[in-house]
Amino acid sequence: MGYFVIDRSIGIASLVGIAVLILMLVIYAIRLKNVKHAKSLAEKENQDSKERIMEIESNYNSALSSLNDLSGKYEELNKNKENMKKLAYTDYLTELPNRAAFTEMLDNIMLTLRNEETIGIMDIDIDNFKNINDSLGHSYGDELLIDVTHRLKQAMGENDYLARIGGDEFIVLTQNLQDTTTYEEKIKKIKNVFSYPFVLSTKEYFVTVSIGVAFAPKDGKTSQALIKNVDSAMYVAKENGKNTHAYFDYSFNVKLTEKIETQSELRKAIEREEFVLFYQAQMNLETKQVVGFEALIRWNHPTKGLVNPDEFIYLAEETGLIIPIGKWVLRTACHQLKQWSQEFPDINMAVNLSARQFKDKDIVKIVYDIIEETGVNPKNLELEITESIALDDIEYTIATIQELRKIGVNFSLDDFGTGYSSMNYLKRLPVSNLKIDKSFLNTVMEDRSDQKIIQTIITLARNLDLLVIAEGVESFDQEEFLKESNCDKAQGYLYSKPIPKDMAIQFLKKEK
Ligand code: C2E
Ligand code: CA
Ligand code: CA
Repeated sequence: MGYFVIDRSIGIASLVGIAVLILMLVIYAIRLKNVKHAKSLAEKENQDSKERIMEIESNYNSALSSLNDLSGKYEELNKNKENMKKLAYTDYLTELPNRAAFTEMLDNIMLTLRNEETIGIMDIDIDNFKNINDSLGHSYGDELLIDVTHRLKQAMGENDYLARIGGDEFIVLTQNLQDTTTYEEKIKKIKNVFSYPFVLSTKEYFVTVSIGVAFAPKDGKTSQALIKNVDSAMYVAKENGKNTHAYFDYSFNVKLTEKIETQSELRKAIEREEFVLFYQAQMNLETKQVVGFEALIRWNHPTKGLVNPDEFIYLAEETGLIIPIGKWVLRTACHQLKQWSQEFPDINMAVNLSARQFKDKDIVKIVYDIIEETGVNPKNLELEITESIALDDIEYTIATIQELRKIGVNFSLDDFGTGYSSMNYLKRLPVSNLKIDKSFLNTVMEDRSDQKIIQTIITLARNLDLLVIAEGVESFDQEEFLKESNCDKAQGYLYSKPIPKDMAIQFLKKEK
């Protein structure tokens, strides 16, 4: 029995053992399966992540190349921007900095200017540039501007900045000025580069400049104020006869405001009929009879009263208003001439032409039309131009005078002796009269050299078959001297001041 019990217990133990073994096997198999599953999962994931990495890598690469593209584009854009800025800040013709560049530069300087620092500014404007442009054409005008730029560059020092800020206007800005008086040297240097002629279309031209000068901070605390003030200084230099320079002064601005006001009043004066003509008699020195009148304009200003031409003709010339004003003068003088010639058919009428009027391409037509409209005899009309206007473009002058001489209009050379008085030119000019400038008459009785000049002019005129008229005759002594010197005609306060038309006709009736 005991045996049997042992036997049975062994059997059970084996069974349990086997069962345990089987169980372990099952567990192992399950684990193995799980491991395999996990492994395959891991492998799959691995594959997935590899693919993802590749995808990321390719995305990264394409992002990188886009970035490269982008930065290339950015650089290009920047370059374009720089080019555009350069273009916007460079004068196309001279390649100098332009007005925008100069203003920005000055803005920056003024913002950081310390109290003890001084900067100088020069506004350089070419005199009569318009004449060159008009007579030679714009391409020669451009050529001149380029030549001027080269010359100005020669006069620049290391602290100077040169810009072209307008058609014929340049700026020099000088930093770190030790002393404003040394600026005079620089101005001289700049004027010097204009001391020899420019060659344009094989001809030589002398060019002058008007220079305005201002200093900061003395003449302006902001760049706007400074630009405005150096500009008014330049205008003053122009008004002082050009080819000169002027330092800014605060009184300039008051004058400038007045000038602008006068210009706007001048504009309205024509339609308001505020202009009148006065007439000054011209005498034959031999017969002592009135041979003609010079028409001289006056402005009957609503508050200032009668204003003399010296105070407004230059403004009318500057603004171009001289064209309509000049037409009015010519028409009015011709109407008057027509009226007087009914009774005095030989009487002449002299009318002044300004530079701009004479250079107007329509001048011949304007004169023809007015002669036709008023019905005057052209032989009794004398147009006065100054020597400097006549010599400015001699070929044009000759052609224009010849056109008008065809119908009998005569020309006089006004203010003779104040300009170049070149013999060579004079003999080519188809004028009929020389008017000796009154400055010679002023001192003729005291100054023997003025007597010589007058006698030489008269001899010269005789040789060229011209009549001579002396202006500004105020005394009998002067009259006597002129008669002895064989002068033909005289005009001056000795006979009559310029007077209104009603007085002029009375004078004519009395003296003729
Ligand atoms: P201008 O053509 O030389 O005219 C002569 C000037 O001398 C006139 O001045 C006249 O009044 C003045 N005068 C005449 N005799 C004497 C004299 O004996 N002594 C003195 N001290 N002066 C005398 P005004 O009328 O003031 O004219 C000045 C200038 O204005 C003229 O000089 C002329 O250049 C210009 N002007 C006058 N009228 C006209 C015009 O209708 N058109 C143009 N474009 N200019 C004109
Ligand atoms: Ca005159
Ligand atoms: Ca004169």
